[in-house]
Amino acid sequence: MNNPFLAQHIIDIPDFPKPGIIFKDISPLLASQEARDQMTQALIEPFQDQKIDVVVGIESRGFLFGMLMAKALNAKFVMIRKPGKLPGKIMSQEYQLEYGSDTIEMQEAAIKSTDSVLIHDDVLATGGTAAAAYSLINQTGASILGYSFIIELDFLKGRALLSGHDLHAILHY
Ligand code: AMP
Repeated sequence: MNNPFLAQHIIDIPDFPKPGIIFKDISPLLASQEARDQMTQALIEPFQDQKIDVVVGIESRGFLFGMLMAKALNAKFVMIRKPGKLPGKIMSQEYQLEYGSDTIEMQEAAIKSTDSVLIHDDVLATGGTAAAAYSLINQTGASILGYSFIIELDFLKGRALLSGHDLHAILHY
């Protein structure tokens, strides 16, 4: 069962950004110090006994708690961004959407082959974005310890695309 205090800080916005989508708005979670602290603690708790060198956050809402997790774990924080946003030498990974494709990018020097990495995003939907993040980070030779999400949309079965890895989500819908 979902933690009622944390669940109360997520709002359902029907038909946003498209008809038929129920958007999970995390704004109330960001606004409350108590909810932020509890969520950060819940996110890092499953990984606390492991040495994590890097938390990778996926643009853009993955940056918010990704940074808080990195601070709590005393780890580096690295951004995965949409194309054309990061300067310097970059690595990129294309992935399929329902219609068409998309690309994500990361700075080449951001992760070392010796790093242990945790991937974080706000919502796990179909899993396409997180799977692409995994492929991108995997090119560095780093060890990927698992995935961390605030919300998992269980009915979309995104977990199946990420199988074989430790995956934790705090709230389920
Ligand atoms: P996916 O690749 O399908 O797992 O989609 C994950 C990305 O889309 C995440 O970065 C989410 O921020 C966003 N996303 C997908 N569905 C929702 C939703 N219902 N509410 C909020 N964000 C969503």
